[in-house]
Amino acid sequence: MDTKAFPTPALSALEKFPVVFNDQISYAGPLGAAWAPGRVNIIGEHTDYNDGFVLPAAVDRVAAFAGRMRADQTVRLWSQYFEEAAQFSLAGLPETFDAQRADLPGWARYILGVVSELTRDGIPLHGFDAVVGGDVPLGSGMSSSASLEVATAQTCSFFSNGTFSIGNTDATLTPMQVAAVCQRAEHVASGLRSGILDQAASCLGRPGKAVLLDCRSYEYRYIPFDTPGISLMVIDTNVRRELASSGYNERRQQCEEATKLLHDMITPDDPDAAAQVKALRDISPTQFAHYKDRLPEILRKRAGYIIAENERVFQAVAALEKGDIEAVGPILWRGHAGLRDEYQVSCLELDILVDIAHSVDGVLGARMLGGGFGGCTINLVRNEAIEPLRLAVERYYPERSGRQAIIDICRAAGGPGQAVV
Ligand code: ADP
Ligand code: MG
Repeated sequence: MDTKAFPTPALSALEKFPVVFNDQISYAGPLGAAWAPGRVNIIGEHTDYNDGFVLPAAVDRVAAFAGRMRADQTVRLWSQYFEEAAQFSLAGLPETFDAQRADLPGWARYILGVVSELTRDGIPLHGFDAVVGGDVPLGSGMSSSASLEVATAQTCSFFSNGTFSIGNTDATLTPMQVAAVCQRAEHVASGLRSGILDQAASCLGRPGKAVLLDCRSYEYRYIPFDTPGISLMVIDTNVRRELASSGYNERRQQCEEATKLLHDMITPDDPDAAAQVKALRDISPTQFAHYKDRLPEILRKRAGYIIAENERVFQAVAALEKGDIEAVGPILWRGHAGLRDEYQVSCLELDILVDIAHSVDGVLGARMLGGGFGGCTINLVRNEAIEPLRLAVERYYPERSGRQAIIDICRAAGGPGQAVV
């Protein structure tokens, strides 16, 4: 086996496969693995479901499946993380989704969700047996759920006679179509009305690149994010809050309300301009400055954050395209302040980590990452500041929060992949 072809979690899942699936059934294909990355989002948080702009990068952490195609319609799974088995059938999907979902553990629901949404799109699929592993931290904001979904799609591609393939020129589904299938899967599996950011970032990953994605048109463009001398540190608060999913859906609703009110305010002044207002993405900062005082305070804050955050995405892109990554730092600090004060999705522990980062020389910028209410921060750090930041977090975070943080260093990495043994 060419071990270099596989990321480490895929190798570990491959090793486990014969141990778990040892009932000697006759398989319809060879042993192989498929995987897909988690992501960081450099800037553009909560803008995706406002039809706005995001700037994520896939990272060198993946969800991985190792398995073999079956001759029937059964899918048997073993999760290395949860040390738990799950099983479902392709028969009757998507109609049998709800009934089958009810009997599955949470992690397997994402997999069923993707399989079910692929069948809805008429993609013919085979059953398979697979060990599911990975090294994207769960629930920390690096989008382990999207990595799991996209790795599922990649696995199905692998096991479906090449009917579609991610990132392949013969693809019957483009990477963004796969992302959209996986986004739908997230909705039906978890009830979170998430935007397209996480799944798109995973599908589109490229080493040394970030992706500027327009979440309305799905147009995207790669932006250099190869940063010699500068590292991306991801620091996990170790806080997971139930609030996350209800808080997220509530923010989404508030953005819709703000859009509607702004639309109605603009209509008498300029009906043509108002007709263009479908989402907060369509409100310019100048328009917002003109009308914002007529919005209820809470909606003024929410909309103000989103409109400024879209601008920050373009500021960061301009800086990166000039090769001036140092200029991205202040954009991250400002992004965090907006998430904390206006969008109000931060929490004490995230604020403490950002505050500590701010006190260390050579940290260019930091902000909370992902939906909020817990999870991790991303920190853009000069290499000589890695150790000082680590020491500062180890010293002050437990003192101020009563918890231990988990520190990781990531790099911008490639998208989904697959290989046979
Ligand atoms: P995030 O996507 O930010 O990591 P989510 O709450 O959206 O957090 O998704 C986390 C859930 O995704 C986990 O609780 C688990 O059910 C599932 N999951 C993600 N990756 C894996 C994996 N490699 N193996 C099993 N389950 C996974
Ligand atoms: Mg997720």
